[in-house]
Amino acid sequence: MLRLLFLCLILAFSLASSARDKVTVELSIQPEARTFSAQYTLNTHVTGGKLLLNLNKPYHLTNVTGPNVRTYTSALFFDSFTGDTLRQITVEFFTKNPRQQLTVQYEGRIGARFATDSMAEFTAHASWVPTIPNQEYAVVDYRLTVQVPTTYHVVSTRLARSSTPGRYVFEGRTSTIEIGALAARRFFSLTSPTPAARVNLYKANRPCTATDSLLVRDAGKIIGYFNQVIGRKDPIRHFTFLLPGINRTASGLLDNAAIIAYTTFDTRDPGDLLILAHEISHKWWSYGAWNTYDNWLNEAFATYSGLLYLQAAGDTTSFRKELSKRQKSAATAPALLGFEPRNYPYPVRRQVLYDKGTAILFELHQRLGDEPFFQILTATAAARVATTDEFLRIVERESSPATRQWLQAKLSQ
Ligand SMILES: [Zn+2]
Repeated sequence: MLRLLFLCLILAFSLASSARDKVTVELSIQPEARTFSAQYTLNTHVTGGKLLLNLNKPYHLTNVTGPNVRTYTSALFFDSFTGDTLRQITVEFFTKNPRQQLTVQYEGRIGARFATDSMAEFTAHASWVPTIPNQEYAVVDYRLTVQVPTTYHVVSTRLARSSTPGRYVFEGRTSTIEIGALAARRFFSLTSPTPAARVNLYKANRPCTATDSLLVRDAGKIIGYFNQVIGRKDPIRHFTFLLPGINRTASGLLDNAAIIAYTTFDTRDPGDLLILAHEISHKWWSYGAWNTYDNWLNEAFATYSGLLYLQAAGDTTSFRKELSKRQKSAATAPALLGFEPRNYPYPVRRQVLYDKGTAILFELHQRLGDEPFFQILTATAAARVATTDEFLRIVERESSPATRQWLQAKLSQ
């Protein structure tokens, strides 16, 4: 019996791992010229012998090859979700095998928002990898090799598997668009003194300051709190911050990491502390599709997690102020369930997916009380929930059918 169970487990594991896409990227960066070239090999599921891939418009597509690749075409199209023109590559294969392998070769210039005179950033927001439409957040196993001049160093969301001067290899599992690295002449780093949840910070080209130390300290506190209310079954054991030294935005990544692309970021400011907590929580809230209403499972959950931390840290004034801002915005927002982001401008998307979702989570929290609500957060995080239906099922299981109905009604108004 035990042996049968064991065999079933092996089979289930091998099916699951064979179903996951595999990505191998060879990235060569010329930071001084602000150019790069990439060779992106993808092993993926294909239906009907044909695959579509989107690539950032300014990049020059050199070639698409593969053992079964028959032909490929490439054309520009306007993507209504990103509001941008993208390049779509259509690849046709000789056979209709459900799994195919292909290599996309392309090169381009590094955008101004992702480079300084001695730093080059290849991260999620740079959209530097080709993606299958609507699968931008699909989780893949990857191996990333980065080549740079030997006067440069490279860091990523995790430590290099191997490195020699000018060549770094990283391996892991993350969302397709979140595979990435940062190259700079020099990195300054900080490490938290808390081994239970180690925090590492890498800052490009400039020495770390007192506010960077505060960031690391506060991140440790946030992680400690989140591990008790969200990550009971899937805690954060290590976390990496990448500071490229560019003023743009912050983004949390699935792979226990965040990019803080601000030139000043001071967690003594409740606004920055809220951003920090929001981004850290994306470790759990990253599975909903980014271009449907299911994105509230990422953004509203991360926003409410951030607010929970402000409250837990004793800053009730900021908690109330930030919550009421979102409640006010939610009051005039369209219904969340069935919301089609493509049909609305960005401010309305934000109103629905960030603010309205946050206001509803607060109401759910009020209805259930702390412990049952945290139980739901923990179960949702552990299940890596990707759809609102799955979340509703968890709410029903962890609380009651009545609460599920109540929540469904809230999401529909
Ligand atoms: Zn977010």
